[in-house]
Amino acid sequence: MQHIKDEDFNRIFEEMFRQITCPEIFDREVFIEVLRDVSRLFDLSKGVTEFYESITAERMKDGEVMIDYDDGREGVPIMSHRLVTQNYMVTKTTLYRPKDSWEMTEEERGKLEVVLRALVSFISRNRLEKLVERLSLYDEAGYPNLKQFTEYLGDIYAKSGLDGYAVLMYNLRNFTLVNSDLGKEVGDIVLQGHFDIMTDTVGDAGKVCRLGGDNFVAAVKKEKLDDVINVMNGVPVIFDARHEKRIMITSSAGVFPLPDGFHFERFAEILAPLFTATQEAKSEVQGNVVYTTGSESQEREHTQRIRMAFPEALKNNEFHAFYQPKVDIATGKVVGAEALCRWIQDGKVVPPGEFIPVLETNSDICRLDFRILEIVCKDIRRWLDSGMPVTRISVNLSRKHLVDVDLVQHLIGIVDEFHIPHEYIEFEFTETTNEVHAENLKQIVNALQKNDIAVAVDDFGMGYSSLNLIREIPWDVIKLDRGFLPQKKDDEQSVTALMYKHVASMANDIGLECVTEGVETKEQVEILRKNNCMIAQGFYYDRPLPVTDFEQRMETGYRG
Ligand code: C2E
Ligand code: MG
Ligand code: MG
Repeated sequence: MQHIKDEDFNRIFEEMFRQITCPEIFDREVFIEVLRDVSRLFDLSKGVTEFYESITAERMKDGEVMIDYDDGREGVPIMSHRLVTQNYMVTKTTLYRPKDSWEMTEEERGKLEVVLRALVSFISRNRLEKLVERLSLYDEAGYPNLKQFTEYLGDIYAKSGLDGYAVLMYNLRNFTLVNSDLGKEVGDIVLQGHFDIMTDTVGDAGKVCRLGGDNFVAAVKKEKLDDVINVMNGVPVIFDARHEKRIMITSSAGVFPLPDGFHFERFAEILAPLFTATQEAKSEVQGNVVYTTGSESQEREHTQRIRMAFPEALKNNEFHAFYQPKVDIATGKVVGAEALCRWIQDGKVVPPGEFIPVLETNSDICRLDFRILEIVCKDIRRWLDSGMPVTRISVNLSRKHLVDVDLVQHLIGIVDEFHIPHEYIEFEFTETTNEVHAENLKQIVNALQKNDIAVAVDDFGMGYSSLNLIREIPWDVIKLDRGFLPQKKDDEQSVTALMYKHVASMANDIGLECVTEGVETKEQVEILRKNNCMIAQGFYYDRPLPVTDFEQRMETGYRG
């Protein structure tokens, strides 16, 4: 006689399959309810699942035993299914029924068997997934690994950002000595002992994970950072509790206190600067704890990007010369201009501060300077040919040129190629403290002057100004840096004002043309006038202008 209605079975069976085949809708509570329904339907008293990570573990009874269902009635095992996966993981479920329950038909047994097999296969897969997930978060010795670390950090980042966190990477100092002096077994105990101290110190304010060997990473809230640094500076680690034996362990650590609003796309942006800082800490030059701001690696990336893009940009004529007028403050006439390089990339103007320092790390800057000179010569040629007003244009030359023995020849070659009268060209050099460079600079300046090309010392007063450089090198023009120019707050007796006065007067006495850079206000123009420095360059008149705007300025000038 049949005890189970087909529709009841089908309903429960369908729900069970929905649950175990769709991880998206899987709901533990619903699933347990389904199991209960199955048990009631077949009048089961108990369901027990055993789970073993290997067949050996099964033999040793070293595994998990889960009671899936137990209604408290005495029962006997009526059906069991054991599944061994490819990697020898064992899942076994046994179903129990009371002895005096109704007799199941063949068909009912068949149905129960299908349910049982589906269930075992589901539990087995589920366990396997959990096991793999767990294994993937720990290393072979059971320490939380890098994956766990990045997941931990990634979760916090996604939820609330990393404000208030510091990340560190550390290495136990002289750990090879511990291994060789005390043996590897003690080494393992010390490693674990140190790890335990660190995890205790960090508590729930962070996480400590092992990178491999005696290298670890940790994330920690900044308020715990001092405690952590104390551990880095040395803690006693017990390796033989019975005999109270301990060893002092210090660490070399790189520390990256994340700035508020810290944004990253790849973990390498955190780990790479940390790695560099840890290497530095290991070298002991700056002590055993080295801090990083992370910007070093951003800078490296920026450098890399600029360097890669430069040759293409040069080929595509993305570099332009903008002209900033030099104005005679008495007449308002444009008496010259400085060519300043602009990189126009995808319609956006990149200011020189972003790429010139990069190009100066190799000789790319020299190629750029030659290009700017070419552009300037082309513009002057056009002005001459079309009868427009023309003034002297100064071109900046990097210090990198100072070691180029063919520099003067190269520069004059370009100027002559466009048949530019030499009086229209001026070159600006910044000061140098390097003696060899100073000697070369002197020769270059002399050679250019022999060719009737004017030479200016740029940014005078910035960096390591040396009066010697003024005495030794016969400049034509001195450009006073805007740092020299008195600001509103400086009165006439301020050091800045006095220095400006004396430097301007020195320039005049020596017979140098004196240009003041960075003139921004009317008051500053008055200061120039009072100090007899009659040429100004600055935002008060104009910013560096695209060539067509500059051409207009040459025509109109400014009000004197
Ligand atoms: P620099 O040669 O001293 O050029 C003057 C800088 O001061 C320019 O910055 C200019 O825009 C800025 N400036 C001018 N007037 C004012 C003002 O009133 N107030 C303020 N705050 N700033 C003013 P820029 O164009 O950003 O160039 C920066 C530096 O980059 C230049 O300093 C120069 O050293 C370098 N540079 C620019 N173009 C070239 C180039 O073609 N070759 C080389 N080697 N260096 C270049
Ligand atoms: Mg300049
Ligand atoms: Mg300057």
